[in-house]
Amino acid sequence: MADDKKLPTRAADFSAWYNEVVLRSELADYSPVRGCMVIRPRGYGIWERMQRQLDTMFKDTGHENAYFPLFIPESFLKKEAQHVEGFAPELAVVTHGGGKKLEEPLVVRPTSETIIYAMYAKWVQSYRDLPILINQWANVVRWEMRTRLFLRTTEFLWQEGHTAHATPEEAEEETRKMLGVYRDFMESYMAMPVVTGMKSDAEKFAGAVRTYAVEAMMQDNKGLQAGTSHNLGQNFSKAFDFTFQTEAGGTEYAWNTSWGVSTRMIGGLVMTHGDDKGIQVPPLLAPIEVVIVPIYKADDERARMLEAAEKVRAELHAWERRAPGKLRVHVDKREGIKPGAKYYEWELRGIPIRMELGPRDIEKNQAVLVRRDTGVKTTVSLETIGEDVADLLHAIQDSMLTAARDRRESNSYRGEITYERFREIIEGPGGFVYAGWCGGAACEAAIKEETKATIRVLPDEEFRSAEPMKNCLKCGANAVFEALWAKAY
Ligand SMILES: [Zn+2]
Repeated sequence: MADDKKLPTRAADFSAWYNEVVLRSELADYSPVRGCMVIRPRGYGIWERMQRQLDTMFKDTGHENAYFPLFIPESFLKKEAQHVEGFAPELAVVTHGGGKKLEEPLVVRPTSETIIYAMYAKWVQSYRDLPILINQWANVVRWEMRTRLFLRTTEFLWQEGHTAHATPEEAEEETRKMLGVYRDFMESYMAMPVVTGMKSDAEKFAGAVRTYAVEAMMQDNKGLQAGTSHNLGQNFSKAFDFTFQTEAGGTEYAWNTSWGVSTRMIGGLVMTHGDDKGIQVPPLLAPIEVVIVPIYKADDERARMLEAAEKVRAELHAWERRAPGKLRVHVDKREGIKPGAKYYEWELRGIPIRMELGPRDIEKNQAVLVRRDTGVKTTVSLETIGEDVADLLHAIQDSMLTAARDRRESNSYRGEITYERFREIIEGPGGFVYAGWCGGAACEAAIKEETKATIRVLPDEEFRSAEPMKNCLKCGANAVFEALWAKAY
C-alpha cells in the first residue's frame, strides 16, 4: 500500500479521487519525464486485454497490422495545411542525431497520416491494389501543457487505423464501420455506454472531411471522447500525390480514413466504474477475475487452507468455460496480512469477485463469493464452483453496463430548454444536454466561451430525442441539428 490515508471521495473532489485511485490501485505512476506516465503491470494488464480484443475485432473486419517509423520528416507534416496547423503546437522535434545537426529535423509522430499515406502512394498503382486496410499499434507524442494520468499524457499508447479506398462511398462506409466497432467494444467489454455521432467543423480532426466520435459520460457528468473515426476524403492523398488508375482507365486520388483509440480508455474505465473504495474493472478486461482469500486463525491451519485454496484455483482454472478463455484466478497467499486488509486492497484494485475460503467452508464443501460491484455475498457449493463463478462474472459485466447507462440517462436533458437553464445545468451538476443548434460557428463559439461546454457530437439518429428542440439554444433561429453539449475532458 502506498498510503494508509483514506481515499478522497468522488463527491468531495472528483479530480483528486481520480488521481489517487489511479496511483493507489497501481495502474500508473508519474515518471521522471514531466507529462509522461509509467503504466504499471495492473494498468498494462488491462491495456493488453483491450488490445487483444480490439485486435481481434479489427482482423474480423479485414484489417492487418503493420508498423511505421516513430520519426517523420518535418516537411511531411507541412504538406497538409490544416493538419500542420492543428498539430504544430504539440510537436516534439529532433534536431540532432549521432552528435550532428540533422539536415532535416524529424518530428516524433503525433499521429501517422503523413508518413503512412506517403508509403501508400508508393505501393498503389491501380484500383486493383485497393482497398488498403492497415492498423498500427504504436506510441505517439503530443507535447501537452496540462497532463492527467491516462487522460492526457505527452506520450501515450494507441492504435491508428489507416485505410485507402477507390470510392468516397467505401471510405465513408469504413469510417462508420470502425466507429461501430469502437462502440461495440466499449459497451460489450468496457461496460461503458457511448453516444455516437459526428463532430462539428470546429471540433473535427485537423485534416479530416468528417470526424465521428464515441462519447461517454464520466461520473462527474463530464464527457470523455473515447475514440474517433475520420473520413479524410482526398485531403492527404492530394498532399502526398497518392493516385491510382481507375477501372475506367483514368487517374484518381485515393479516399482515406483513419481511426484510433488509446490508453485514455483506461481513464474512462476508472471514471465510469470506480467508487469510493477504488476502481472497478469489468470482468472481460480484468487481468484477475477472481481473487481467493484463504482464512485461517492458527498457523497450523495455514498450510491446510492454502492447499485448499490452491485446489479451488486449479479447479476453476481447469473448468472449461466457452468464452473468453480460462478463468483468471489469483490466490492471495501473503503472510502476516489480515483477511480484512486483503479485502480492502482487492476492492481498491477492482477485482470483480472475491472468494472467501475458511476452515468451516471447507468442511461444508462451500465458498463465499463477494461481488465487487454490489458487495452482495453468496455462498456456493464447491461442486459447481466453475459454473457459478462464470455466471456471476457474466452478471457483473451486464449490471456494470446497466448501471452506467442508467446513470448517464438520469443526467441527460432533452427537449425544450432555455439558455439560462442550460447554463445552470452546465455550471452546476453538469450532464449531457441535447439542444437545438442553428449550425452557426458563432453560436457554438459563444456557448463555449460563456460556459466551457462544447458540442460533443451531433448524435446519430438512434440517440436523438423523440421531440428535439426546435430552435437554436443560443440565437433562437431554426435548429438545423440536435447537438449534444457537455463539458469534457
Ligand atoms: Zn444559433
